[in-house]
Amino acid sequence: MPFIDSHCHLDFAQFSDDFAGILSAANALNVMEFVVPSIAVNNFDKVLALANQYPAIHHAFGMHPCFMAQHQGDHVQVLEQYADKHQPCAIGEIGLDYFIEKDAQGRQAQLDLFEAQISLADSADLPVLLHVRKAHDQVLSVLKKSKFQAGGIVHAFNGSFEQAARYTQEFGFKLGFGGAITHTRATKLRDLVSKLALSDIVLETDAPDMPLANMSQAFNQPANIKVIAEVVFALRSESAAQIERQLTQNTRSCLNI
Ligand SMILES: [Zn+2]
Repeated sequence: MPFIDSHCHLDFAQFSDDFAGILSAANALNVMEFVVPSIAVNNFDKVLALANQYPAIHHAFGMHPCFMAQHQGDHVQVLEQYADKHQPCAIGEIGLDYFIEKDAQGRQAQLDLFEAQISLADSADLPVLLHVRKAHDQVLSVLKKSKFQAGGIVHAFNGSFEQAARYTQEFGFKLGFGGAITHTRATKLRDLVSKLALSDIVLETDAPDMPLANMSQAFNQPANIKVIAEVVFALRSESAAQIERQLTQNTRSCLNI
């Protein structure tokens, strides 16, 4: 069963020098499909162009909470038009990052934008790709308030078992795990990966970010899904084949790809 990288920024400049090489290195390790989220309106066209050129690339449109300075008043409408016209697999990446934003006004601006994008995803019946740091309870209360039912992925999940249970059971989300679990000191994350239901987990690199333990490349890339998968195999009791099959199926079912 081929792997899917459920979150990688293949439109970023690091990949442009040797794009074909990056894809073939991934393919050589059976990483065959890629979900590429957007971070702001100004990268929608690049992400869309990649998806149009490569059938293995699945695009999403959204406005990332770490790039608030780039998001303008009419960008939610632009997002709506793109979502309407260009059939993304999800709205993303969107969310709240209260780790980088400590100021109350800044947090409110993130929250307003997030609520607007959740409501847009809800009307379009599209799943979402969530970026959440130090704000899981706030995100869960937005999902609850808006009765959001289209699900999606909490990318680079780093919350508690209780928060994991709420995302998966109340809202039908999958939880994304990546390079962070390759670090032996990540005991809390490894504990989550070993104990969550296999049906709740998806794999991601977040390339070019999120370096793996002992990584030799200058930046992360989708081929590293294989290394991340091997950590999951080691942490769990199911067979590698069963894990591989289930994780790929999880990404397909929640994003309808
Ligand atoms: Zn990302």
